[in-house]
Amino acid sequence: MQKRIEAQYMRPDEIIAVREAGGPVFLPIGPLEWHGPHLPLGVDPLRAYQGALALARALGGIVLPTLFAGTERERSPQMLRNIGFEGDEYVVGMDFPQCTLKSLYFKEEVFAVLLRNYLEMLIEDWQFRRIVIVNGHGGENHLAVIHRLLKAFNAVTPARIAFVQPMSHFPNSAIGHATLEETETLMVFYPDSVDLGKLPPRPAPLEHVRFAVVDDAGFMGRNPAHRVSEEEDPRKADPARGQEVWEMTIGELRELLEGAWVEREIVDPNRP
Ligand SMILES: [Zn+2]
Repeated sequence: MQKRIEAQYMRPDEIIAVREAGGPVFLPIGPLEWHGPHLPLGVDPLRAYQGALALARALGGIVLPTLFAGTERERSPQMLRNIGFEGDEYVVGMDFPQCTLKSLYFKEEVFAVLLRNYLEMLIEDWQFRRIVIVNGHGGENHLAVIHRLLKAFNAVTPARIAFVQPMSHFPNSAIGHATLEETETLMVFYPDSVDLGKLPPRPAPLEHVRFAVVDDAGFMGRNPAHRVSEEEDPRKADPARGQEVWEMTIGELRELLEGAWVEREIVDPNRP
């Protein structure tokens, strides 16, 4: 029988045994968020959860229930123009005016309190000394909250908190929002949740503003067409490649965690 590694299915003695062996506790995080008409709202937390499971299987430790929470705030004029807006609109995260359903973003201050309290419980009540936050969401203020808490906890508590993101950063891969990579991983783990038929057929353009599907270059201001580029087109998604990229990503994160627990702070170098 496969060993149970998810906290909600474990007895107290099993959780204590993991702690006594020095095993880390993994906390997958991400909000329910618009990811285009073709993907489920849980893309980010589901990828975080799968990442946490894979890392715990490889390194030992336990996986907490996914914290379906995250935050966003209004986009800056520069970022709005990068994506294809005028620059003076009020747009929070990926909730573009044409989206049919809003994301469930917590307010930044609420998310920070929630995560702080969670980390305190793990350190003070459960007495874990190694915690790995596995994050799936790239909102700038979301990342800033995690970084801020991680720095504070690593400085003033006996625990060491690491922060990783299961997102590839290979030379030829770019991770956008609801584009190729996210679509492919969802196809690997949750094939029924993906429906490419919800997007117009190729070669019709996928305008960033219309679908709230934005490629990496689009966020960075390097895509003046404001349409998803050919290389990141989610309609080309291939689960076999998705599997391959995922395994490489997990392999890298595994090495990062294995090699770096001695450091005070471990932060995945991946850009969101
Ligand atoms: Zn995402």
